[in-house]
Amino acid sequence: ASEPYDCVIIGGGPGGYVAAIKAAQHGLKTACIEKRGSLGGTCLNVGCIPSKSLLNNSHKYHEAQHDFAKRGIDVPEVKLNLPNMLKAKEQSVTSLTKGIEFLFKQNKVDYIKGTGSFVSPTKIAVSLNEGGETEVDAKNVIIATGSEVAPFPGGGIEIDEEQIVSSTGALELKKVPEKLVVIGGGVIGLELGSVWSRLGAEVTVVEFLGGIGGAGIDEEIAKQFQRILAKQGIKFKLNTKVTGAEKREGKVYIKTEGSKGGKEEELEADVVLVSVGRRPVTTGLNLEKIGVEVDNRGRIVIDDQFNTSVKNIKCIGDVTFGPMLAHKAEEEGIAAVEYIKTGHGHVNYHAIPSVVYTYPEVAWVGKTEQELKAAGVKYAVGKFPFSANSRAKTNLDTEGQVKMITENETDKLLGVHIIGPNAGEMIAEAVLAIEYGASAEDVARTTHAHPTLSEAFKEAAMAAYDKPIHC
Ligand code: FAD
Ligand code: NAD
Repeated sequence: ASEPYDCVIIGGGPGGYVAAIKAAQHGLKTACIEKRGSLGGTCLNVGCIPSKSLLNNSHKYHEAQHDFAKRGIDVPEVKLNLPNMLKAKEQSVTSLTKGIEFLFKQNKVDYIKGTGSFVSPTKIAVSLNEGGETEVDAKNVIIATGSEVAPFPGGGIEIDEEQIVSSTGALELKKVPEKLVVIGGGVIGLELGSVWSRLGAEVTVVEFLGGIGGAGIDEEIAKQFQRILAKQGIKFKLNTKVTGAEKREGKVYIKTEGSKGGKEEELEADVVLVSVGRRPVTTGLNLEKIGVEVDNRGRIVIDDQFNTSVKNIKCIGDVTFGPMLAHKAEEEGIAAVEYIKTGHGHVNYHAIPSVVYTYPEVAWVGKTEQELKAAGVKYAVGKFPFSANSRAKTNLDTEGQVKMITENETDKLLGVHIIGPNAGEMIAEAVLAIEYGASAEDVARTTHAHPTLSEAFKEAAMAAYDKPIHC
């Protein structure tokens, strides 16, 4: 038999592929088992990357149609070429997934194309994509099998990926639907709802809760976000639950009622997007046989060093606890390998940013105001609107604000919430500040280039501990 691997990773998504590369960089003999036929997992194939391609290009189309004229750019006729927009999306996906294959070769990670299943804690059977079986022996295993679309709870709405789609189908609609109903006003619903709204669909978002944006968003920001999206033409039905769907004469009719009972309604749709969350993937891994514990939500149970209930098997990413985010999975991948190699690793769960890539973007890190209120923490809030920022004004792009929340006693940043142009890039500064325990005064006394949007971040810090200049 061949030498056992030091580390075998099951799943080649952002968690798994990053762990594999890091393990190999640390000199561990490493293999990554992936069944999809391409690397990069949900994120690169049917998640982050294709959705951001469509968000970017649909935004440009929308700008060309509605925004260029006021900037002195007259374009005679702007036409959508949807097949080419989808092709551009495919190109970004392929170049990135192939890029990871290249990185595997460069770092000497063995890429095993197939479906992994435990025979024992140190032996994994792989049913190969090209046919046949193989077995690999591993001193350490990292499970990184990710997540999949959660079906509509209670059944009744079957995803066919054409008329009733998940995010995967919504990334490749062949034509712009006249009416799109989105079930769930979380991140996927708002991002993909925005894409199709900009391309011409009439979009209605039905959300069970009283606010949009999903878990972790600051309530004040969520309200402002909703107002901005509503101005762009997206309709919202909040505090409303979907109870079923019926296909009739080429349309889908969505039945809704108030979250707490009450008024029933029927919404007509050409396409329905079901975006009510995702669930962990563990089927076929044979976890019961080897004794890896799974909780009542299907997540693999781990300790604070990514150890499962079985020695030598670790787990990271969407398939275990925490927010389902690519960068969170990546950080865990690196830390899990460092635990294997050195016994030490680090992920700061207080400093994981969230970004919604709509226009404007919404980004946050740390605590929300409502969380701090509930916990009885004494805090200060510094706000700075982009309407008072010189670069945003120059760009005629002034919607949104930076909201910084600091601890009264120490002036340390507890949370930052940004809605505005480039919020997703700007949040990195807040993450770094929180990671290093910076105070608002530290940020406010740091020089920020002029004229940049990031000056709004500095002025929000000035507002939190003293007074801003421009507002
Ligand atoms: P995954 O990416 O799900 O990868 C797991 C891999 O394991 C899969 O490729 C699967 O085929 C493979 N696998 C499973 N079981 C087996 C097995 N038995 N054998 C072999 N292989 C197996 N996150 C962000 O941070 N930013 C975004 O902008 C963002 N946008 C998103 C947009 C959409 C539409 C969606 C759906 C998700 C988005 N996400 C985003 C979430 C992000 O995609 C996930 O958090 C991330 O992919 C999780 O990484 P992972 O490695 O844990 O799992
Ligand atoms: P989500 O959890 O963000 O949002 C689901 C929403 O659906 C919630 O607001 C929930 O209240 C609502 N809902 C649930 N059942 C409902 C019902 N019956 N009727 C009406 N509303 C209902 O989930 P998602 O948008 O599907 O995204 C899944 C995951 O993918 C998220 O965890 C997210 O982190 C990740 N993701 C991240 C990004 C990003 O980082 N930009 C983008 C896309 C997806």
